[in-house]
Amino acid sequence: MANSERDAASGTPPAERFETRAVHAGQEPDEETGAVMTPIYATSTYEQDAPGEHRGYEYSRTGNPTRTDLEENLADLEGGAFGRAFASGMAAINTVLNCFDAGDHVVTGDDVYGGTHRIFREVYEDYDLSFTFVDTTDHERVREVVTDDTELLWVETPTNPLMRINDIGALADIAHEHGALCAVDNTFATPYLQRPLERGADIVAHSLTKYVGGHSDVVAGALVTDDAALDEQFGFYQNSVGATPSPFDCFLALRGAKTLPVRMDRHCENARDLAAWLDDHADVSRVYYPGLESHPQHDLAAAQMDDFGGMLSFELDATLEETAEVVSTTDVFTLAESLGGVESLIEQPATMTHAAIPAEEREAAGLRDGLVRVSVGIENAADLRADLDRAIADALE
Ligand SMILES: *Cc1c(COP(=O)(O)O)cnc(C)c1O
Repeated sequence: MANSERDAASGTPPAERFETRAVHAGQEPDEETGAVMTPIYATSTYEQDAPGEHRGYEYSRTGNPTRTDLEENLADLEGGAFGRAFASGMAAINTVLNCFDAGDHVVTGDDVYGGTHRIFREVYEDYDLSFTFVDTTDHERVREVVTDDTELLWVETPTNPLMRINDIGALADIAHEHGALCAVDNTFATPYLQRPLERGADIVAHSLTKYVGGHSDVVAGALVTDDAALDEQFGFYQNSVGATPSPFDCFLALRGAKTLPVRMDRHCENARDLAAWLDDHADVSRVYYPGLESHPQHDLAAAQMDDFGGMLSFELDATLEETAEVVSTTDVFTLAESLGGVESLIEQPATMTHAAIPAEEREAAGLRDGLVRVSVGIENAADLRADLDRAIADALE
């Protein structure tokens, strides 16, 4: 769909369209056996022909063929030259921070992923990096807080759980005007819907745990960049710190990447359907989904993304307790944190993902007691509607 059209319309089309690259990029049938799928190279070390003369691999923390195939696949899908895979999304984010020094300043959104907020404040502030959290949709505000020491602008879009859209191109420009790098956490959109490097970002970070893995069965992360010097640093820290994914984890993530376009199409279709239905629901006061025309940044989302994704939030006219009951009594939706798997998940930010934020701050940030976040899966849309309808009716009767 949109990706194919984009590829066809661009002056320098890649050899193949996104869907084809998702299946094949980074992979050739195994030379020795013809195995169509990349084998799980369960080996820690590799035979050398003479001391120091190896055939591309010497030790599996440094490199492993299953990992290489995953890294090449992801780099290709993001339209970048270099990919690196990690043991988790947080390990990937940590690797970016490893590249900075004491005294460096980072600007980021006030609604970044909780784990990102934690590693910034509770790990790297101790190493004398400093962080400023602002509303990154307010570019004037971003310009105000950038200093001579600012080396990194860390962007998420869409954000969690209110699905705010950040303008990657505009933020990358601000970063570059100040000699800083722009990194985008592309976990929510995935490269199928949004390719930050094309819009000027320097680094793309991923939790592969979510949509790329896609089946809630693996924890992994990745970094992609076009900058050879940055990639070399990522490789140095990947090997030195050692938070690398196992060959089995790489196999699962690569298997997920192959079906990413097919799954994302259904995630988007179901989310669009559910958002429209919730928007008309008598007990729902507000729906946060960038695909709705009522979303304040719908136009930006339409320009920056090829579709609007599978994540949405909505606000019930209900108390904290009633809302807790709704999310606890769905059958098809599973009550759980995380997102991006084939199964639909539901959660209450106020008591779960965002419970660490004090109640008053939470209110002020728009994370009300009646807020519900869903990761819309690939089940039948009518079953999803019926399940939510019944859970809401039972809890609010
Ligand atoms: C889950 C997530 C992460 C962290 O990834 P892990 O694989 O859980 O370490 C980072 N950013 C975003 C947006 C996420 O959703």
